[in-house]
Amino acid sequence: MSTLKDFLTLLAKATKQLNLSDALLEKITQPNHIFSTKINLTKDDGSMQELNAYRVQHNNARGPYKGGIRFHPDVNLDEIKALSGLMSLKCAVVNIPFGGAKGGVQVNTKTLSITELERVARGYFNAGTQAGIFAANKDIPAPDAYTNTQVMAWMLDEHERILGYNSPDCITGKPLNLGGSLGRLYATAQGGFFILTELLKANKQSLTGMTVAIQGFGNAGSYAAEILNKAGAKVVAVSDSSSGIFCEGDQCEISKIKTYKKRFKTLRANFCQQDVCDIEKMKKENVRIISNQEILAMDVDILILAALENVIHKNNVANIKAKIIVELANNPITQAADIILQERNIIVIPDIIANAGGVSVSYFEWVQNRSGDIWEEEYVLNKLQKIMRNAFFDLVKIQDKFNVSMRLAAYILGVERIINAIELRSNQ
Ligand code: NAD
Repeated sequence: MSTLKDFLTLLAKATKQLNLSDALLEKITQPNHIFSTKINLTKDDGSMQELNAYRVQHNNARGPYKGGIRFHPDVNLDEIKALSGLMSLKCAVVNIPFGGAKGGVQVNTKTLSITELERVARGYFNAGTQAGIFAANKDIPAPDAYTNTQVMAWMLDEHERILGYNSPDCITGKPLNLGGSLGRLYATAQGGFFILTELLKANKQSLTGMTVAIQGFGNAGSYAAEILNKAGAKVVAVSDSSSGIFCEGDQCEISKIKTYKKRFKTLRANFCQQDVCDIEKMKKENVRIISNQEILAMDVDILILAALENVIHKNNVANIKAKIIVELANNPITQAADIILQERNIIVIPDIIANAGGVSVSYFEWVQNRSGDIWEEEYVLNKLQKIMRNAFFDLVKIQDKFNVSMRLAAYILGVERIINAIELRSNQ
């Protein structure tokens, strides 16, 4: 299963629909720049570890490069290339003036102390800043899987230490006290929620009482759970990398689950030690431990994917029972599985639009940092809703015009806008 191969296949399909020349296809296929380096991490015990690190700058025809940084042991150049291209398309689909990039460090954060994590964050940003990669007008990173506001704060500090002056607009997803935006923490989930509600409205359906299972209980997944329960849906199961929790009562108490995830680090650790689980405690709390495959196969109305890529593939797609899937994660469904889901009339709200709320509020953060202004949360939310609704209606138009899936429509819309920007810059 290759994320890059899937990305390139979809890109080729979109350019074919638009009758683009091979030369234009090439321009949008190849990233503009690949930065590949090694970070020397000094561990707390004095030993050294060498980590592979990347930043791929895909396209900046519509504005500065923009895209998250992930820390994960599976990070590799092909994955980062695909994700950088996806970012270019995503920014174009929600029509914000950014290009696309992505970065990653091949590291397992679960094995690092907090001081080691800070050294990785600083080492990465130092290398990128010294190489002229990161700058407020050029390439503005943000959080992604296994990076958070604290990691952004260390990166900001490293960048400003090198520059010798403040530049809060060099990175987004920062803590509020360092120039972050109100609403950014839950923006990815909120944006997905806005698209989901527009889709339900268009289909004359109501969210009230719909059952939801959520894979991934980090930034995107945990806020999605809170927002959906609050809006009247019933989140009945959530999961993280340790396992899933099925709530046997009416719906999961998300604030309680969040508290013990914070305390024990994993969802499972509140109930189990290795393979031994406390049955009485589970009974008392009305929950059951389930596997990550079980959560994907639950008979719910809505399945939210908010963990990593390629979790639904040709070997497990037949088990999917949800009627609507929302991709808060990037590339969680392989192309082969996606085609099968389409044949089964399961609606997939694709990553390009479903999780674009994160980069949209990152854009708001950047604008606030550059103007020195601070926007109220309600203003941020209203602006986000407008951006997401406009993108949804633009997509529906493309879907109708070309008679394609929402995913291919998003690729077509993104490619069209980027190619137009390239052509406006030069005809040669
Ligand atoms: P996070 O690190 O906060 O959370 C990731 C979650 O996924 C954790 O709960 C982790 O335990 C879980 N997980 C990891 N492997 C798993 C597995 N095999 N099965 C089940 N759960 C697993 O990351 P995040 O920021 O919430 O990002 C999640 C996804 O959303 C990523 O694909 C990311 O690219 C995408 N995304 C995030 C943002 C954002 O603003 N945070 C924006 C756009 C897209």
